[in-house]
Amino acid sequence: MRGRVVLAGDADMHKASGNFYGGFGLEPAAVAYAQDAADVAAAIRFARENNIEIAVRSGGHSPAGHSLTNGGLILDVSGMDSMDIDLQARTATVGPGRKAGPYGAEAAKHGLITGFGDTGSVAVSGITLAGGAGFLARSHGLAIDSLLEAHVVTASGELLVASDTENPDLFWAIRGGGGNFGVLTQLTFRLHELTTVTGGTFAMPASAAAIRDFAQASADAPRSLSAIAAVMVAPPMPMIPEHLHGTPVLVAFMCDSGDPVKADEVYRPFRELGAGVTDDIAQIPYMGMFHPGPDAGDAPAPVVAIATAMVDSVDSVADAVMDLLAKPMGVMQVFGFRILGGAVADVPHEATAYSHRDKLIMANAAVMVADPSELPAAQATVDGLIDRLGPDQGAYSGFLGAADATGTERAYTPDTWARLREVKRAYDPDNVFHRNHNVVPAS
Ligand SMILES: Cc1cc2nc3c(=O)[nH]c(=O)nc-3n(C[C@H](O)[C@H](O)[C@H](O)COP(=O)(O)OP(=O)(O)OC[C@H]3O[C@@H](n4cnc5c(N)ncnc54)[C@H](O)[C@@H]3O)c2cc1C
Repeated sequence: MRGRVVLAGDADMHKASGNFYGGFGLEPAAVAYAQDAADVAAAIRFARENNIEIAVRSGGHSPAGHSLTNGGLILDVSGMDSMDIDLQARTATVGPGRKAGPYGAEAAKHGLITGFGDTGSVAVSGITLAGGAGFLARSHGLAIDSLLEAHVVTASGELLVASDTENPDLFWAIRGGGGNFGVLTQLTFRLHELTTVTGGTFAMPASAAAIRDFAQASADAPRSLSAIAAVMVAPPMPMIPEHLHGTPVLVAFMCDSGDPVKADEVYRPFRELGAGVTDDIAQIPYMGMFHPGPDAGDAPAPVVAIATAMVDSVDSVADAVMDLLAKPMGVMQVFGFRILGGAVADVPHEATAYSHRDKLIMANAAVMVADPSELPAAQATVDGLIDRLGPDQGAYSGFLGAADATGTERAYTPDTWARLREVKRAYDPDNVFHRNHNVVPAS
């Protein structure tokens, strides 16, 4: 490889094997930093010849710890983060390690954007493999809906192009099917014209009624508005009004990419929700929606128990969320939900492997704990919350944790799951890429 390889016992192995979340107790034998597709192919070949497990890492945000391995090789593509913009074609071609924040900052120089998620440090390849729902989901669709082409190094070390016209089955599968089919080494996205949005942080005291009312108002809003809400005991964060710190709060990041003249009308139902409602919503550059995350290495990585579901309503869980906040466990508890529909639901279900386009809400419950020994109790709590959302729920693979036994199949409808297994058999019959929400090859 041209890139560097860090081995167990090297002084910087601790840092090299650190991810956004911690507490997985996984210690790799090596971390290989690929610089290009040839490095990726070399690492895959080496791992296969020596029967070593591979975990692929771009931005390191896997809540399941899938970009780590115990005794295996982390194939890290974070350094492959180039970005080329073709202004004429309105496309951006990036390396897999490009983070959503730097992607957006570069595109914004030209008044252009592609929507990923709500966090600038998530890598574009990791989020795209999951689907990618963010501030522009209802107006512009998921990240995968702007993906035009990807380069994929397969388990055999071959470099393939995946697009509507080349290897379309592979292109279908990587848009939501996770890292099961190979390593993405380059992605090309459509860019959309967008400079400013009317957005910011909305906050109100949390109650079961507030959760239900906010969800209803979000669902009733025009598709220019995407809202990402979190219900929690408010930490002392600058974006949350000080008088709410330490109290149960519903805080939402809201982004309206429609006509600014109509924005007051869009936000009116939210501002009418009740006493204590407050916001800093204004016309801001799109990238102003992103808040800086903690600097890597500043603090120990949080240890998280997480559960997730795709549903049509959060009404049935609202009381239980308030009960959890009244008797908090762990370091922090969050119930998050985002209303989808809009452009997400415009794309036919069978067009991509992300298959729950008809589900209106992506929900997740998370409890951060100080020590991994607290995980089983925390996991039982978040599982219990998500169970209350009812039996007929899907899941979003991007928010699935390691402890979710049925999660991978819940992430896909039965027809998508069967098709994913066929594509897996075609491109990775030996299941070399199994550190992911694993699609078992069809037999
Ligand atoms: C703080 C936070 C905020 C988030 N916000 C959002 C959001 O707003 N919207 C949303 O949709 N999702 C969101 N997510 C979920 C996120 O999209 C997924 O966890 C995603 O997989 C992270 O990608 P990554 O590259 O950063 O992580 P990694 O841990 O590096 O990758 C995750 C997995 O993806 C696969 N993978 C990554 N890169 C490649 C590659 N180049 N080739 C093949 N396989 C690869 C591997 O299986 C790997 O285990 C968030 C997650 C966190 C932790």
